[in-house]
Amino acid sequence: MSATDGIPDPALVVLVGASGSGKSTWAASRFRASEIVSSDALRAVVGSGEHDLDASADAFDLLDRIVAGRARRRLSVVVDTLGLDPTMRRAWLALARETGLAAVVVRLTAPERVVRQRNRERDRSVPAAVLTRQLRSARRAMAEIDAEGWDLVVDVVHEPEALPRERAPRPVGRPATPGATTLERSPTGEPMSGPAERPARGDRDGPEIVLQVSRFPWGEDPSGWLRGVALAAAEAGFGGVALMDHLIQIPQVDRAWEPIPEPFVALGHLAALGTSLRLGTLCTPVTFRPAGVLAKAVATLDVLTGGHAFVGIGAGWWEREHVAYGIGFPPAREREDLLESAVETVRALWSAGTKPYAGARVSLPETTCYPRPVGTPQILVGGSGKRRTLRTAARLGDACNLPSDPAALDVLVPLLRAHCADAGRDPDEVAVTVLDVPAVGRDREDARARVERLRGRAAAATYAARHHAGTATEHRDRYRRLAESHGVRTVFVAVPDLSGPDDIERLAGLVP
Ligand code: GDP
Ligand code: MG
Repeated sequence: MSATDGIPDPALVVLVGASGSGKSTWAASRFRASEIVSSDALRAVVGSGEHDLDASADAFDLLDRIVAGRARRRLSVVVDTLGLDPTMRRAWLALARETGLAAVVVRLTAPERVVRQRNRERDRSVPAAVLTRQLRSARRAMAEIDAEGWDLVVDVVHEPEALPRERAPRPVGRPATPGATTLERSPTGEPMSGPAERPARGDRDGPEIVLQVSRFPWGEDPSGWLRGVALAAAEAGFGGVALMDHLIQIPQVDRAWEPIPEPFVALGHLAALGTSLRLGTLCTPVTFRPAGVLAKAVATLDVLTGGHAFVGIGAGWWEREHVAYGIGFPPAREREDLLESAVETVRALWSAGTKPYAGARVSLPETTCYPRPVGTPQILVGGSGKRRTLRTAARLGDACNLPSDPAALDVLVPLLRAHCADAGRDPDEVAVTVLDVPAVGRDREDARARVERLRGRAAAATYAARHHAGTATEHRDRYRRLAESHGVRTVFVAVPDLSGPDDIERLAGLVP
């Protein structure tokens, strides 16, 4: 940093530069905290955090009053905003004139590459397009300032030599150490604890907790990342790992160009770890694979896991991924039909022998499917609680996967039970499972910071409420209550900001 300084005291100092140009850093190195008035800091005072743009109007209102208050008392004040708006600069200059303070502008510039890199490395970066606009108007502002009539213009230019050209690759967590896990199978691959142990049944310890992995920020080491996450989950006491089944990353989770693996290939990889985790998908769209191929994949996974496979299956909902991959996407009613016949086909192929099958929706001349599952893989019928899906789950499923919102469960669970009665099935045969997307912090402060990073355009309070922002133990208590109030037996926990193996520790309190 090289500053030709000589700023008088008192002065009204206006910082000018794009996000990441080093304004706040420079101000902190040169002025006392009480002399600096920052729009970001004030957003955090009146809003949910420094980046709460909804709080901008209030923050700038306060900023104006603080700057004016200090200036009238002839106290130095540093205005830490972007400083790119000429009208605002003119008003601060006028205030300095009116109160007799020296009017100073500090222009902060750094090579664009450096500013962009710093922005990317920030906890919460400005979108690239916004930064481009800022950089453009910063260039314009730098030129205009000379003619505005300031008493002093200071240029602070950051030398980029210390910054490496490329961002260092993100750490991808600890390397997989298969020896560190509890092996549940003998060296010959025989299951030692008996196949197909059923998930915990909403007992005193609360429901079974399965980690659903929906994002894969695996950097340069996909296989190590996957193994590491599964091993850490097993160690932490999760009952299983579920992978999302999508062809393109869904907008609810991340950007379309982030990786999302084919789940059965990835689960086969995890099966080789030999943990006692249940492994499966949540949820597989019935449209992706012919039902027989799905039966084959799950049977193979069941054999490779020693009877720990499960499969979530749903009607599919996202047209874009079907169109993009050349897969048919029939209307909802047909997909619901397909779901029913798929579950029937899968069950027929898993049944004993090779005899022909003739059922309500499906007829097969033979049912030769080897390897046969070693256990009975749980079939979870998933859906956002559509009526028809509930009926399918009640008639044909081992479980019905629902949203975790208690108000939704108040409606959907009795409906599922009623469908079970209609189908002549004991409601106990159809487990209620839920997908929960919690904001999990190490403590209250960390939970709040995570909400701020995750909330997108939602208001912080809305996001925090919807995702029950809190500590792992608080979520665990909520899961216990879901087991008590609605008989939830398994909670699939999708942690939106799970970064990798080392991050599982944060979730340890979720499991008994
Ligand atoms: P602002 O958005 O303009 O207020 O920028 P900040 O002062 O917050 O700085 C943005 C990022 O650049 C932070 O991560 C700083 O640590 C970093 N930074 C700021 N000044 C310097 C500098 O002189 N040299 C280097 N290497 N990094 C800096
Ligand atoms: Mg700043």
